[in-house]
Amino acid sequence: MLDTSHLLTDLSAIVGEAHVLTDPALIGSFLIDVRRNYEGQALCIVEPGSTQEVSAIVTLCAAHGVPITPIGGNTGLCGGAAVRGMGGAPGLGLSLRRMNRILDISPLDETITVEAGCILQSIQDAAAAQDMLFPLSLSSEGSCQIGGNIATNAGGSSAIRYGVTRQLVLGLEVVLPSGEITGGLTRLRKDNAGYDLRHLFIGSEGTLGIITGAVLSLVPAPKSRETALVAARSVDDALHILRRMKAAFGERLTSAEITEADYMSLVLEQMSEARLPFDAVPPWSLLLEVCDSAEGAEMMPLLEATLMAVLEDELAQDVLIAQNEAQAENFWYLRHAVSDAIRHAGPNMSHDSSVPLLAQQAYVDLTRARITARIPDARPLYVGHMGDGNMHLVVMFAKDRFADRVAYDAMSAELDEIIDGVVMELEGSITAEHGIGLSYRGRLAKAMAPASLNLMKGLKKLFDPQNIMNPGKLFLDD
Ligand code: FAD
Repeated sequence: MLDTSHLLTDLSAIVGEAHVLTDPALIGSFLIDVRRNYEGQALCIVEPGSTQEVSAIVTLCAAHGVPITPIGGNTGLCGGAAVRGMGGAPGLGLSLRRMNRILDISPLDETITVEAGCILQSIQDAAAAQDMLFPLSLSSEGSCQIGGNIATNAGGSSAIRYGVTRQLVLGLEVVLPSGEITGGLTRLRKDNAGYDLRHLFIGSEGTLGIITGAVLSLVPAPKSRETALVAARSVDDALHILRRMKAAFGERLTSAEITEADYMSLVLEQMSEARLPFDAVPPWSLLLEVCDSAEGAEMMPLLEATLMAVLEDELAQDVLIAQNEAQAENFWYLRHAVSDAIRHAGPNMSHDSSVPLLAQQAYVDLTRARITARIPDARPLYVGHMGDGNMHLVVMFAKDRFADRVAYDAMSAELDEIIDGVVMELEGSITAEHGIGLSYRGRLAKAMAPASLNLMKGLKKLFDPQNIMNPGKLFLDD
C-alpha cells in the first residue's frame, strides 16, 4: 500500500515544498482539459525546475509504481494530459511550466535550444528578435508548450511549407520511465547512426517518456508577404488552384486554408467582428499566403497573374488580394475564428481526419451525404489545412438536442462510425494532428491494422514495462 504522505515528502525534497501542489484551488486548472471533457484525478501536481529534478521524480515514482502524466499547456484536444491513477493508486501530474528557459539561439546554426515548458509564442518571439522564424503556428500558441507540441506532433497552418513539428525537431532530451536521461540535444541535420529514436518520442503523447528539452530548426524570417482569398465552387477546383499556386510560387506558398460555406456563415453569425469581403458567401473560401525572406520581393504581379488565370479558366468564382495588412488580417480572422464560432453555437462533435490530397472532395461528399441521410438534423461543417489533406469536420446540433451526456455520447459514437468508415475507404487517418489521448482510443483500435497496433503496444512495453508513463492513453486495454 502506497504511503502518500511519504511520497509527498520525498517529492518536496526533490523540488521544494512550494512546487508540490495539492490544494484543489491551485491544481484545478491543471485537471480540466480545454474542452472540459475530462476531469483529472491527481494526488498532486509537481513542478520540477530542471531535467535532473524530472529524473529524480520519475525514479521515485518508478520505485513506488506511481503513474505520471506529463502536462504542458493543457490545450490538447483529446484528453492526453488528463491525470489518471492506476489500479486504485492515484497518479501525479508533472507540469513542465517552470522549465521555460531558452538555452541557446544561433541564427548562423539556424537552431534554438529550449526547455520543454517554453510557451510556443515565446519561442516564436525569441526567433523573431534574431530576425529568424520558428515556423510552427497554432491558434493555441499563447498557451501551448513546445514539449506538448512535440508530444502531439502538432500541425498548424504553415505545415504545407515547413512541415509539422516532426520536421522542425533536430534533437530531443527525454527522461525515460526508468528515470534515465537520454542525451539527445543534438544539432545534427544528418545522422544515420542506428535507429532515430527522436521520431518515436515525437507524437507519443507522453506515453514513452517526458520531453525536457529540444533543439529546433529556425528559418530566415519572412520579409515579404501577400495574402489572397479565393472563392471556389468545389474542393476539387480549389485543389487545381493550389496546383497552379505551387507551380508559380514553389515553396514560397506558405498556407492554403479552406472553409466551406456553412462554416463561414456560422462564423459570420456568431462573431461580431467577422466581415465577409465577398458579396455573398462562396461555396468554398480558399485562403492563400505566399512569403519570401527577401525584403521587397515583388510577388504581387505573379500573384495577380496566377489568380487572374484561374478566374479566366473558371476555377475560381472570385479573387481578392489583400491590399494592406488590415485586409490580410481580416482574411485570417475569418479562418481563425472557426474555433470560437462553434463554442457557443450549440453541441458539436469534431473530427480531425486526413485523406490523400486527391480524396478531399470525396471525403466531404461522402461524409456529408451519409451523415445527413442518417441524422437529418446534423449540420456538418468543414474547414481544412487543404495543402495537407487535413479536413476538420465539425458536426453541429441545435442547442437543446441532447437531454444528457449519455445521449450526446451515443450520437458521437454513431458519427465516429460513419466518418471513420469514409476515412478508411479513402485510405486516410482518423487523426491528422490532434492525436489519440483518451478520446480516440477505441477508434484507433478499429482503424489500425492489428500488426501495427501490436507493434505500438510492444514498444510501449519495452520503454515502460511498469506502465507508469501516462497510462490509459492511446490504448484501450491499459
Ligand atoms: P498538453 O495539452 O498539455 O498535452 C498534450 C499531450 O502531450 C498529453 O498527452 C501530454 O501528456 C503530453 N505532453 C505534454 N507535455 C509533454 C512533455 N514535456 N513530455 C511528454 N509529453 C508531454 N493542434 C494542432 O496540431 N494544430 C492546430 O492548428 C491546433 N489548433 C488549436 C487551436 C486551439 C484554439 C486549441 C485549444 C488547440 C489547438 N490544437 C492544435 C491542439 C493543441 O494546442 C496541440 O495539441 C498542442 O500541441 C498541445 O500542446 P500543450 O502544451 O497544450 O500539451
